[in-house]
Amino acid sequence: MATTDDSDIDSKLNHVARAIRDLLRSNPNGLDIDEIKAVLGVGADQMHLDRRLRSLRKYYHLPGKQVGGRFVYTLGSAKGGITDSGAISGKLRAEALNIAKGRCQMCGKTVTDDAIKLQIDHKVPQAWGGLTVIENLWAICESCNNGKRDHFASYDADEMTALLEYESVHERIAHLLKMHMGQPVDSNVIEFVANATERQEDWQKRLRDLRYPVIGLEITSGRYKTPQGFTRSTYTLHNWRDLPPNHRQLIRDWENPAKKQLLKQQLGIA
Ligand SMILES: [Zn+2]
Repeated sequence: MATTDDSDIDSKLNHVARAIRDLLRSNPNGLDIDEIKAVLGVGADQMHLDRRLRSLRKYYHLPGKQVGGRFVYTLGSAKGGITDSGAISGKLRAEALNIAKGRCQMCGKTVTDDAIKLQIDHKVPQAWGGLTVIENLWAICESCNNGKRDHFASYDADEMTALLEYESVHERIAHLLKMHMGQPVDSNVIEFVANATERQEDWQKRLRDLRYPVIGLEITSGRYKTPQGFTRSTYTLHNWRDLPPNHRQLIRDWENPAKKQLLKQQLGIA
């Protein structure tokens, strides 16, 4: 493994961002925003601190986690492609178009049949920490691109960036729903958040996992019709509990009849 050379990155970060990085590095258990503020003396300027965290996120993974009722940041590894300006090279553009084969990767309309034009877009927006790599690029039509931009603009970039840093797909889905507690969240956003990392997830299965009594989230589903007449499904979260650190194991155990009985007894629902 190559060790990370901070010196390349240092020149691109301002002193506050560097100080946050060094602070997180010396606190491997993580710090919440108030602790970071207290140490840095950034005062009440939340906007300012958010901007520094955002610039730090261009170069480092900053996995967030829920500890008790607090959200803490930790310092992860340095990201590759530290010169990522968001500009899509001709080579990447050609590669993405080749994968799309003349079809919008969002709605499926084609260049030949529907006279659409394809645009190369960052799947995970740059403002949410998305990188300019082929895995994060796709070719979509102008109307899908505009719709996506408008819809995504309704989400808080910092919250979404923090959310997408969760390694666990269950955490990503749970925290997305929590951001909109009691309000329906579109299934396409859930799918997006579930699949925002390289791995393609069965998001519907992951959503069901969260409803298991061992996890204990109450999630209801609903439907609505868009003005264009499409039916969309939505999911609404009604309670919150931090996911146990071993939630993946608990979910597997719940699906194992031999272990399920014991878990039921432990939960008092035998
Ligand atoms: Zn489209």
